[in-house]
Amino acid sequence: MLSTMQDEPLSLATLLKYAATFQGDSTVSTWTGTGVRTMTYREMGAESARLANALRGFGIGVGDRVGTFMWNNNEHMVAYIAVPAMGAVLHALNIRLFPEQLVYVANHAEDQVVIVDGTLVPMFAQYLPNLKTVRHVIVANGDASALQAPEGVQVHSYTELLAAQPDTFDFPVIDERSAAAMCYTSGTTGDPKGVVYSHRSNWLHAMQVCSPMGMGFNGSDNVLAIVPLFHANAWGLPYAALMSGANVLMPDRFLQPGPLLEMMEDQKPSFAAAVPTIWGGVLAGLAAKPQDISHLRTAVVGGSAVPPSMMRAFQEQHGVRILHAWGMTETSPLGSVAHPPAGVTGEQEWEYRYTQGRFPASVQARLVGDDGSVVPNDGESLGELEVRGPWITASYYSPEGGVIDPDKFDDGWLRTGDVGKISPNGYLTLVDRSKDVIKSGGEWISSVDLENAVMGHLAVAEAAVIGVPDEKWDERPLVAIVLKEGTEAKAEELRDFLADKFAKWQLPERWTFIAEVPKTSVGKFDKKRLRAQYADGDLTVTTLS
Ligand code: AMP
Repeated sequence: MLSTMQDEPLSLATLLKYAATFQGDSTVSTWTGTGVRTMTYREMGAESARLANALRGFGIGVGDRVGTFMWNNNEHMVAYIAVPAMGAVLHALNIRLFPEQLVYVANHAEDQVVIVDGTLVPMFAQYLPNLKTVRHVIVANGDASALQAPEGVQVHSYTELLAAQPDTFDFPVIDERSAAAMCYTSGTTGDPKGVVYSHRSNWLHAMQVCSPMGMGFNGSDNVLAIVPLFHANAWGLPYAALMSGANVLMPDRFLQPGPLLEMMEDQKPSFAAAVPTIWGGVLAGLAAKPQDISHLRTAVVGGSAVPPSMMRAFQEQHGVRILHAWGMTETSPLGSVAHPPAGVTGEQEWEYRYTQGRFPASVQARLVGDDGSVVPNDGESLGELEVRGPWITASYYSPEGGVIDPDKFDDGWLRTGDVGKISPNGYLTLVDRSKDVIKSGGEWISSVDLENAVMGHLAVAEAAVIGVPDEKWDERPLVAIVLKEGTEAKAEELRDFLADKFAKWQLPERWTFIAEVPKTSVGKFDKKRLRAQYADGDLTVTTLS
């Protein structure tokens, strides 16, 4: 028996229409360094129509890819919704990729148009001659004449182009399973892999982001989107904001702790999202120059494990609740979110908040052991996390056909490469990426546990732990420490600090002090580069007896 329900497709065109009308007074604002430039959702509706008309004028139709090479700003937000709403596919390019990777992903996705920020034109100009499918470049927030067009490519000024367009557009109704947007993984090994989101997956995911079990922001929030729009579907923030009517605050290129704090002082966001490295910088900025940031009721932090010491510092020193979440480009990205269970309060809450959190009903999760069998959710057994659900990718984009990286999929489940345990009431605790776990004498040492613990020391700004070859134990941990400015600590002192937190055999004897932990294009610790530095003999290592 079929239901009597209407079969209305979940479409981002419907979302745009809704936001531009029923949430029309809500705003997106971009920080300029001294203030904001603001656009209402109503204005965004008209601007989206103008952009869609311009793109249609270039021959862009359903399924064609439109790239962006931009900071988080108003124009990027318009592209984020207008491109999928017209049936085309948004491809937000990661501006921090290595040149070969950037060229690879734009060619692989076959981007036909790219919208570029004026300040990024010099960088983009180096790539453009190698972008095989790009026919039009639109320069926003800057001077289009600064970009030399190779033969066959036309360059346009965003402002002039859009000024000439009608502010209505007949957004098509398309199958909800159609491609809406794509993002490439920022993996440090091999070619980046394309994940293609659908209208349906983005819609359902946005509902989850808005829900109290997700990020739980609403129409009275001012959401500071620090996470780049090109990283992991922008954590779903743009579509969730349009759905909830929240205001959005975009930092543009002002991403250093000082400018971020100035913006916060001026704009008083109530909600923010960024990876731990950004928050580490903000914390250090606040220590150097105190400021009240208690207007932030919640900061959602994920992308890497959040050190408990950082969560405590934000809560206890600044009245800001850090909400720890786990996700991947492949999972749209939510993922699990660390809300404590009902009735748990006080000190006990932390046990849950430190974890990677609990999965929503739409995301099924299981742990698989080395022998391929599912391990129990007993809070102790370790396994690789596998997930499935309506916003989890079932494959990687493969224009040539054929399956890319079949090993990442297991009978309809996505293999995440993350190793952890799940408690009987569903809380995930990750111990490592499977490739980062340290196997010492056949036993596992969690690099994340060591990092989190040592980052609790007052002198430590950042710590990254890698496994290095050892004659006796096969592998032992090497701890790379970045000290806070003006502080000192010796390896012995740091090891003593860990002594009551780990078994004796887990305590690291190899330590190195470095100026900075190398970072990936999305601000995570780049352990591959750290390993290479070690292998090349570039690190000065102290070995304790
Ligand atoms: P990306 O696709 O760049 O977002 O990377 C996804 C990967 O980031 C995951 O597979 C995890 O290894 C890692 N990750 C994301 N969130 C967390 C978290 N809260 N704790 C630990 N690792 C995380």
